Amino acid sequence: MTKIVNVSGFKEVLDVKDGDDIVVDAEGRIAVPSFYDMHVHLENALTLSYTGDNKSGTLSEAVERWAKVRDTLSKDDIKLIMKKAIILELYNGVTHIRTHADTCSKNLNSVKAALEVKEEMKDYVDIQVVAFPEQGVFNCDQEKFVKAIELADIIGGKPDGEDSEDLGKEQLRLIAELSLKTGKPIDAHIDQGDVLTKFAEYLLSLRHTHVALSHLTALHSAPREYAERLMSLIKRKSASVISSPLTTVYLNSRYGDYPKIRGITRIKEMLERDINVCLGHDDFQNPFFPLGFGDIIQALYLAVLLDQINPVDEVINLITVNAEREFSYASRPSKDDIVILDAKSIREQLSTLSSRFMVIRKGKIIAKTNKRGEVIVGGNTFNPFSLI
Ligand SMILES: [Zn+2]
Repeated sequence: MTKIVNVSGFKEVLDVKDGDDIVVDAEGRIAVPSFYDMHVHLENALTLSYTGDNKSGTLSEAVERWAKVRDTLSKDDIKLIMKKAIILELYNGVTHIRTHADTCSKNLNSVKAALEVKEEMKDYVDIQVVAFPEQGVFNCDQEKFVKAIELADIIGGKPDGEDSEDLGKEQLRLIAELSLKTGKPIDAHIDQGDVLTKFAEYLLSLRHTHVALSHLTALHSAPREYAERLMSLIKRKSASVISSPLTTVYLNSRYGDYPKIRGITRIKEMLERDINVCLGHDDFQNPFFPLGFGDIIQALYLAVLLDQINPVDEVINLITVNAEREFSYASRPSKDDIVILDAKSIREQLSTLSSRFMVIRKGKIIAKTNKRGEVIVGGNTFNPFSLI
């Protein structure tokens, strides 16, 4: 039985008191709309010490390790993990989260925990819950999946998680049908390997409500002719694409040799074609991705580097306005939240990767840093950030 222990001080962090009006002197720092993490698995963040290391680094070993731990967790255990993850996301300037909740979990604990946390933390963060079949719909319990969809905000999918291409397509027909029946949008993990699979094309060809395509890494290495066809279809269907560069770069290309295909979709080309692309952190400190602490800026930084996205000062849209557009298909986000970066420009933020200076949600300060950088040379003290 895995036991998740509360950490000292955690409760105090949650009990943020409402204060009087506060005037903030940001001293030239830049303020931007607060961030969106459009693809995360809150339920297994920070669980690496329970799952053990992912020795092969593959997605399949990560799923196996998580599934073993998942079934030992109570709903309250999962809620505690989620709240810790949310605290980190808030610190990093994220006040809108789309979390995928595993519908293969015992008693639908992951989905129920996510919905309760959504309600309990609503003053701090807008949460959307996706009913997500981590091991495929037909490898778990189909009835449970359908029940989870009734509860959740968004219909998830993972055709690559089924045992064959035919079953993957059957899963997509099921979720498309359920989206028409319930009116709920779809956000599916799709074409998330390195070899060319065509599940996204198939899903978009079906009748459904709005679709978001998560990962879509197979598009990276698709032949030009097919890539153009798929991107044109995505555009015509007004689908969004959600990329999680941190996790997919870590998990993908595990079966290949050098030169390595990098596991990231064609963000730059899709932006050029006016397709709505946004980002997720996805995993942190779990077998899917052993690093990270809920900082979506790290995901943005990696996306810029790997896909050579320009201009740097506009890429913030991937975690603000583009994300807001996709988020709005399922629920209305709070639009007044602000992050004051500890930087005078987006380029400086991406250069220093500094912690956020302050996060303001609905007019209240909910996070701030007290970082005081010092370098002492020749008896003089320099704040390195003041030199930029
Ligand atoms: Zn995911």
